[in-house]
Amino acid sequence: MIHQYKLNGYNIVIDVNSGSVHSVDDVAYDIIALVDQSVPRTEISDRIMAKYPDVTEEDVAETLEDIDHLTEEKLLFSEDPFEEVAGTLKMKQSVLKAICLHVAHGCNMDCRYCFAGKGDYNNKKGIMSLEVGKRALDFLVENSGSRKHLEVDFFGGEPLLNWDVCKELVRYGRELEKTHDKIFNFTLTTNGVLIDDDVIDFTNREMGNVVLSLDGRRSTHDRMRHSKDGQGTYDMIVENFKRLAKARGDRQYYVRGTYTAYNKDFAADVIHMADLGLTETSIEPVVSDPDVDYALHEEDLPQLFNEYEKLAVEMLKREKEGDPFTFYHYTVDLEGGPCIYKRVAGCGVGTEYLAVTPTGDLYPCHQFVGDDDFKVGDIWNGITETQIIDEFRNRNNVYTKDECRKCFARLYCSGGCCANNYHSNGDINKVYKFGCELHRKRIECAIMMKVAEEDMKQEKAEASK
Ligand code: SF4
Ligand code: SF4
Ligand code: SF4
Repeated sequence: MIHQYKLNGYNIVIDVNSGSVHSVDDVAYDIIALVDQSVPRTEISDRIMAKYPDVTEEDVAETLEDIDHLTEEKLLFSEDPFEEVAGTLKMKQSVLKAICLHVAHGCNMDCRYCFAGKGDYNNKKGIMSLEVGKRALDFLVENSGSRKHLEVDFFGGEPLLNWDVCKELVRYGRELEKTHDKIFNFTLTTNGVLIDDDVIDFTNREMGNVVLSLDGRRSTHDRMRHSKDGQGTYDMIVENFKRLAKARGDRQYYVRGTYTAYNKDFAADVIHMADLGLTETSIEPVVSDPDVDYALHEEDLPQLFNEYEKLAVEMLKREKEGDPFTFYHYTVDLEGGPCIYKRVAGCGVGTEYLAVTPTGDLYPCHQFVGDDDFKVGDIWNGITETQIIDEFRNRNNVYTKDECRKCFARLYCSGGCCANNYHSNGDINKVYKFGCELHRKRIECAIMMKVAEEDMKQEKAEASK
């Protein structure tokens, strides 16, 4: 199976199963398409020569030879070597690797699109006590088997409303590291209002990652992200984010935005983040009730695709000028691609990853918190609703879903986000088609960027000769 597309002046051919990427000229591009359609070779020659008067029969034969060579090398039209084993891997038992600690169900903001019910998850307001937090870390250690590296995300609502407990839990985690031979990587996700020097010092010292919520330009951000009294919050947070990012040096962080029907020109929002000096960027489409005024719809897709292209082209331009920034969705690994286990197991929702509420209840991930149908147990008694966990463990993956089997992006996807699937279709197994369209576009852009970056490297090497 191959996937072909033209973008930013490049003709790209992806061999889906091997993950090989080929950047070719117009003639080779067309010949590969005809081979894929099983057109007889003599006819290929006639059709190509009719379309390109300068191309000779020998040229076509040479290109066909190259194609045959790549096919023999399993770099074009290759079979999927993992198809056979994918089903068995699905059932593999996994250990807990990460928890999302909802240290505060409550928020000092009032964002219009909040999936967390304005921070309190359907009126389940609460603040996590130190005792519950410690037990949650113990629970993670107890269920992590021999896995050494463990992840803990401080999440909310707004986790800085319970900052002292976050700090105590980091200290407790450091003790557990010594007694249990583990390494904790902590992440803080924050809306930024309460960031001060103490937060900056502590997170930069102790947290492996920080996620900063900003939607981009002031007008975009302020339309959706309000304070409790309905004011825009851009001015309350931007300087805080800049200070934190600057003080962070090389340590990881990223700015995470959401785009809606009001900023379908979201490339400008991402570029704005970079212009603020917040160079580790990401933005996600809002997932909402289709009837709300800010919902995205299928007819928006052409414009959204265009924005992803625009963003990729601007990133390449800045890279060339020595002023690069990153965009989370464009950081695909073309060398190895995602490993087979990742392709089957995905994000680990419900198996390797669980969310813990302020009262210690367990959910498959933060996006299911507050939905009683998805409460799977608690940190004292462990998983009690094993049938729900089994549903996640045995859910369909890219090898068992028809849409995914036909999808070129399956090498870079693990069947989509179960929460988006559920919230859009009422079924964790049913793909969220709108999200898939965007995912495919982002993959196309990301791969084009890799090809362009290779060209840049070669140009540089040539120039330095
Ligand atoms: S900051 Fe986050 S939790 Fe708070 S209202 Fe906004 S989206 Fe919801
Ligand atoms: S993009 Fe959608 S269809 Fe394609 S592999 Fe991912 S979930 Fe499946
Ligand atoms: S199901 Fe979706 S929201 Fe939940 S952890 Fe996985 S990717 Fe994230």
